[in-house]
Amino acid sequence: MAHIFFDHISTTPLDPRVYEAMKPYFLEWYGNPSSHIHDQGQAALVAVDAARGAVAGLVNADPREIVFTSGATEANNLAIKGVAEAHAKKGRHIIVSEVEHFSVMNSLLPLGNRGYEVTRLKVDRDGKVDPEDVRSEIRADTILISVMHANSEIGTIEPVAEIGRIAREREVLFHTDATASAGHVPLDVRETGADLVTLSGHNFYGPKGAGALFVRDGVALASQLDGGFQERGFRAGTENVPAVVGMGAAAGIAKAEMDGWGDRLRGLGKRLRDGIEATVSHVHFTGHATDRLPGHVSFWVEFAEGESLLLFLNLRGVMAASGSACSSNLRGHDEEDLVASPVLRAIGVPSDVCTGSITFSMGKGNTGEEVDEVLGVLPGIVRRLWDMSPTYLDYQKRGTR
Ligand code: PMP
Repeated sequence: MAHIFFDHISTTPLDPRVYEAMKPYFLEWYGNPSSHIHDQGQAALVAVDAARGAVAGLVNADPREIVFTSGATEANNLAIKGVAEAHAKKGRHIIVSEVEHFSVMNSLLPLGNRGYEVTRLKVDRDGKVDPEDVRSEIRADTILISVMHANSEIGTIEPVAEIGRIAREREVLFHTDATASAGHVPLDVRETGADLVTLSGHNFYGPKGAGALFVRDGVALASQLDGGFQERGFRAGTENVPAVVGMGAAAGIAKAEMDGWGDRLRGLGKRLRDGIEATVSHVHFTGHATDRLPGHVSFWVEFAEGESLLLFLNLRGVMAASGSACSSNLRGHDEEDLVASPVLRAIGVPSDVCTGSITFSMGKGNTGEEVDEVLGVLPGIVRRLWDMSPTYLDYQKRGTR
């Protein structure tokens, strides 16, 4: 059976070169970088600093501005809560877009009990924030703007450079969550004017367990972990040395090679999208048509439930993601959330059809043949689901919805 991984937005496979770079730091060089009085610790410190340089190089930062964390979730928590705490004297107003990841949205929840106010910016039908909306929501007590660089569910790339410019003009800190985009599309922290940027190793062919927060030199941030003085006091705790080394190796590879992957993936994305458009009716693509992540194709199909599509695709060896709440990460939230993902609701997809959403996200290892294989099975699966759908049968009988 086929084994086609089209879910790179959830994670990417480790690049074998990254694996080779990590290996010595498990068994041979197991030192603690903070204990660098001896050779073992020295080796770890040198390796972590080299990784810091490589991660900085990916986004044109200074190595001193990179704070290693356990991943993007921790980096987002540190950015949001760290700014909120450190800048409370200036004000307690934060602006975010309504399509941020849960690690941003849920970091804001405890702040609500402490007198912070959050403005959630609307997005257009493509999921884009209007920078002018950012400008008009800034107040004297605004301390932070957080708008993601790219949305994982619908692939849209946000106008972060314009938002960064406005933030600068108005002297408000700007954070962007670049988990889905870093290592895939260029991101220059100087050009975007971002003060804080979230990065995730496992999203660009590095290992899980390492992420980073870019903290522009001079930005005050309250550490969210009490402990030692690692990572310039921003993040206590011994670094995950093998994972940090892996993230550094992955960053170096991405910097050198991402333009090539990007071009190929844009081609594969177009082939997949065109093929779906030609073979599946009642399909609605989501996200911006051109300002989007390479190799990312997202859509919903009328009368076909997303989770069922995914299960049938998996039976044929095709692995993808659903934007539907049922895809699991909303379990435990309120009933309404179980109908549709907040991102799909934000772009105006009717909540009763939101569950049809599918995200195909391709990676550098995918091929045109795999795209064709997916195109070979998708129309049949959709038809099968339609045949089981009372609403589709009703629609066919009446010729109208
Ligand atoms: N931000 C975005 C945009 C994401 O898509 C994700 C999930 N991959 C995260 C943050 C959180 O990443 P992680 O679960 O790896 O910490």
